[in-house]
Amino acid sequence: MLRRRRGTMLDLRRENRAAVLWSLYFSRPGSRQDLSAATGLSTTSVTNVVRELIDDGIVIEVGSEESDGGRPRMLLDINPNHRYAIGVDVGETRIRVELFDLAMTPRAKAEYPLNPAEHDVDTVVQGIVSGLNAVLTDGGVDPAAVLGVGVGVPGLVEQGPEALVHGQTYGWDAVPLERLLRAHTGLPLRFENCVKNMGQAELWFGAARGAENAVVVLVGSGVGASLISGGAACQEATSSAIEWGHTTIVVGGRRCRCGSLGCLEAYVGAEAILDRCGKPAALAADDEESMLAAHIAGARSSPTTGAVLAETAEYLGVGIGNLINLFNPERVILGGWAGLLLGGRLLPEIRESARRNSLRQPFAGVSIELGQLGQEAVALGAATLPIEDFLNGAARPPLY
Ligand SMILES: [Zn+2]
Repeated sequence: MLRRRRGTMLDLRRENRAAVLWSLYFSRPGSRQDLSAATGLSTTSVTNVVRELIDDGIVIEVGSEESDGGRPRMLLDINPNHRYAIGVDVGETRIRVELFDLAMTPRAKAEYPLNPAEHDVDTVVQGIVSGLNAVLTDGGVDPAAVLGVGVGVPGLVEQGPEALVHGQTYGWDAVPLERLLRAHTGLPLRFENCVKNMGQAELWFGAARGAENAVVVLVGSGVGASLISGGAACQEATSSAIEWGHTTIVVGGRRCRCGSLGCLEAYVGAEAILDRCGKPAALAADDEESMLAAHIAGARSSPTTGAVLAETAEYLGVGIGNLINLFNPERVILGGWAGLLLGGRLLPEIRESARRNSLRQPFAGVSIELGQLGQEAVALGAATLPIEDFLNGAARPPLY
């Protein structure tokens, strides 16, 4: 989100620079005239800002386009190699660390499996630190060129002098993740809820792009949602994570990991689906995904699995119907690894259930779509956190 400053000439210059950078970042490549039209700044102001950005190595000229009756216009783009950002996805079953260039092209990636039944803090910290070192080495990138590291976590993030993570179903209570990582890296760190990260990735680059109001839902082992408003212009967007997975869907229903009965997650979360299909007692983390994929593929030949999946689509539709009635979004995006698997096969049934379980008027204005960024969405979204600071003009703190 663009943070507007008001005050001195210096503030105004910084604000103009941020406006041009945000605009160019989402409409690449573009001419100075395009930037002037998009930002409302005069072409003189845009030309001055662009000169500064080219001098700083942030913007490059990438060719020209014909203009009606005039001189060809130079096209500008972000220099992808100017800086880099790292996104970390601390999931239920794995830690994923990815290095992106400034244009968000993935440059290196590392993954470490986690036991879904045990999320030991030291193991997670070690995984993240190993991942940071691996992607910097594999990507051949100098740490001084990295804007920062965004970390997506399954839980609430208490932002403060140092970020604390509260993840009730993850077994984390006020974990000082920032302090623990700070002992191992000098890179700037940002922390955010993983569902918010996925929402921001889909808003910037995926299925929520251009939507003013959207709800992005993540269905994996856990279930959550991110509400986006003001999304038509990414720099003005705000979002919040909601604990959608722990809203009661069946009074006195199945026991949820949070301790309550009948939560949505206890019906549509991956483990809940596998449990009802008949999960082998010892199932490795990495196998959950292939197991669910196999169940979905073989549903027609197994009445039990078919019934469980039909019930899951029904409950997921009820949950989405509730979101539609409560928030009246123009788009609902279904993502997360289990959400993408379920939606790939059952999206028509899920839509039909949402239709039956919401009011006609708000349902008529909503589209229910699959996420477009796959399982990389959380890491990508986490990496947008330092990018966001960069577009707003934040100076990178000195390293080491
Ligand atoms: Zn619950």
